Order: sequence, then C-alpha cells, then structure tokens
Amino acid sequence: MADTSLGRRRATGVLISLTLALASCSTGEAPAPPPPATIVFRGGPILTMTDSGTVAALAVRDGTIVAVGTEEQVAPHIGAATRVIELGGRALLPGFVDPHTHLLSDADIPILEAQQLALENGITTLADASVEPELLDDFLAAKDGLAIRVGLYLGRTTYCGDDLGTWYEEHAPRTTFGDRLFVAGVKIFSDGGACRNAAASRPPVDGYDTEPPFFEPAILEQMVRTADTAGYQVLIHAQGDLAIRDAQDAIAGVLGGGPNILRHRIDHNSIVTPDLRPRYGEIGIVPVIFGTFPTCADIPWTPFWMDNGEDWRSLVDANPGLRIAWHGDDPWATPISPLHDLASYVTRADRADDGSLCQPPAWLADNALRVEEALPMLNVNSAYALGLDDVVGSLAPGRVADLVVVTADPLTTAATELFDLGVVATVVDGVIVYCRAGDEGLCG
Ligand SMILES: [Zn+2]
Repeated sequence: MADTSLGRRRATGVLISLTLALASCSTGEAPAPPPPATIVFRGGPILTMTDSGTVAALAVRDGTIVAVGTEEQVAPHIGAATRVIELGGRALLPGFVDPHTHLLSDADIPILEAQQLALENGITTLADASVEPELLDDFLAAKDGLAIRVGLYLGRTTYCGDDLGTWYEEHAPRTTFGDRLFVAGVKIFSDGGACRNAAASRPPVDGYDTEPPFFEPAILEQMVRTADTAGYQVLIHAQGDLAIRDAQDAIAGVLGGGPNILRHRIDHNSIVTPDLRPRYGEIGIVPVIFGTFPTCADIPWTPFWMDNGEDWRSLVDANPGLRIAWHGDDPWATPISPLHDLASYVTRADRADDGSLCQPPAWLADNALRVEEALPMLNVNSAYALGLDDVVGSLAPGRVADLVVVTADPLTTAATELFDLGVVATVVDGVIVYCRAGDEGLCG
C-alpha cells in the first residue's frame, strides 16, 4: 500500500514556495492559507502506519485528517480557533481496529456500556463476529448511541455448527444502518472451541478430546460459495488444523486461483501445522489471530501444541508481505486491551493476577514477533480485514480522525516495558471521546 501523500505534499510545498516568491515579486500578496483545522496534534511521535512512517504533526478538520508531516508543514492549518494539543512525547496512533470481538454482545453488559470499555482501551472500530437475528435487533435498537464504528458478521451457522440458512440475504453486503453500523460479512463456524472441542489432528493439551469439523468439506465450500456469489465477505472460525485445512480448501475452491477480492478470512488459526502455514499467502486468505497468550496459566500443553499452537512467528515467516490481522475476541479472551495484546505478541509473557509478569518457556518465546510486525496487525491490517483500510487504521489526509494517544511510542519502547503502556485519550471523528483520569490537562 504505497502512500505517496507525503511526497506529494513535499512537492506541493516546493510549488507553493515558488508561487509565493513569484507572487511577492509581482503583487506582494500571499496565497490564501488552507481553511483552519479543528484540532492539531504536534510534538509527536505520530505513527501514521503508512510509508510516511513517524511524523511530528497532524491536522484534523471536521472529523477528517487534512495534513500529516513536519510541524512546519502542518503550521499553515493552525488558525485562531484551532485547538493545538502538544503530545509532549506521548504517541498518537490510529485508533485500534478489532475485527473480531463479542464485546458489545456480552449479555451481561449493555451495548453502550461495553462501548465505553472499548473506547477506554483505544478501540475506535470493531466487528461483532457472530450476529444472529435477535442480536441484530439489539444492535439496530442501539445504533443511534454508537460512537464506535461497528461491523456485523451475520451468522450462517451458530457457534455449535447448526445451519441458520441464508437469512443474512435480507441485508445486502455492506448495508449501513445509521452512521456507525454496517454489515461486514457472513460468519461460518467450521469447528468447536467456543462450543464443543476443536477439530485438531492431535490433542493440544493432555486429555483433550478432539472432534471432527462441523461440516463435510463440500458443504463448507458450498456455504462459502453461496455467500461469495451474493457479494459477502466470509469469516470462517477455525481453531484446529483439520478445520483450518477445510477452511483453506473451501476458500481456495471458491476463488479458483483468482484474487480474494472480498477478503475472505479465517479467524483464530490456533493450530497451524507446517504444511498449512504458507497456504494463507498462496491462496490470498486473511488470517486473523489472537494476541494474548495465557502464559501464566498452568496448562498441560502437548508437544503437538508446542510445535504448532499459536506460532505466529512461523506464520509470519511463511507468508512474507501477507496482511495478518489481530483480534481481541473479547470478552472470551481477556484482558480487553489491544496494548496488552501487543505486548504479548512481542514478549509472549503475560501478566498474573498479582501484577507480576510470567515469562514464557523457550518453545513459546521462540514464537514472538517484532513490535514493528505486531503493531500493524492492530490497526492497518485489521482495517484491511474489515474492508475499511481506506477509512480507518492509518493516518493520512482523507482518512477519518479516529485516533488513540498512548503514554509512549510502542516502536521505541523496550519489549519488557510494553506492558506498562497505557491509553491516554481516544478520538473518534476528530472528537475526544475518552480522556484518562489525571490527563485531562492534555485533553482540555
Ligand atoms: Zn469469536
């Protein structure tokens, strides 16, 4: 995804200087400045997650990013009414995008309360990964109170593998309901994990009874084909290697060697054996994977798991250039914190109930990612998985101003200190919707 906006802006700057020089020679009049920004952030670091890398300043007007660059480049956007926020070393990033969560559909928390929890953790876009008709009604009833962008994956199956049929066809692909709610795609569960057990060729932990996938391969492929033909992106839940193989085969069969235009994805990918690893890139599938690993838990992992379980290092290495996305899968996978998940990707450590860190054994430490590999999974790659990468997930002129202010720059924070990072403020459409207690000075 080349982003040449900075280059263009540099060229424009040269042109403006030339024009200015000519103008002052001839008439002495300066060109009209751009309309003033609503908010300017400066004093970076500002992580654009584009080819522009890290910049020092960013301007927002009416909820849209209008400039990113050096302080000098952004200065013309500052007018008398512009609110200028000095970051003072705190980092500005795109708001986190969680393309697979159940946070807003947790029966114990009303949708708008759960939304507040997401905002406090810097999540500005999310997708509910399993929506049945009744839950769709709940979302429609709450839509006017949504501050977060919410995608919905309408269930072709229940999480136990019961076929719900094509009821989702009542709502066309990418249908929007109000400003925030939209149909992201169709969800198919291909094995257990949430209900019954995963379809793995061998047990991941001692005493675990693996089960077969929910569907015969031909039936799974037909479900994918039906949704694909109608223009829906398909999200397949697959935990065990047997289910992942069937999901890969189903998508490959439907694509027939062509590009994955609708971005069909496989979520969880908990047990990926070596033969399955490069197939994501070969077929063009978007893998969506867990962040936090339960390193503190005393789980009797088998050698089969130690070789193949949540080995993101091998997945990344087997698929150079492939966009791999994170998911929180909250509230099932806790804590609800993208920053915690980032720290876990990079260290494979986890925080115990008493606050101490549990360090990974060698087999698990080997699975760690570099922070520059993991961070895009939480914003630009997850926006891609949701089909929203032209809107959110990176900072460039024209993108919406969904932002998160973090206590320090994750890219320059020592791995051991990533767990200490916190969300200071969250911005949606250029409006500060959350500010951490004690940091109101920053947010005004
Ligand atoms: Zn889920």
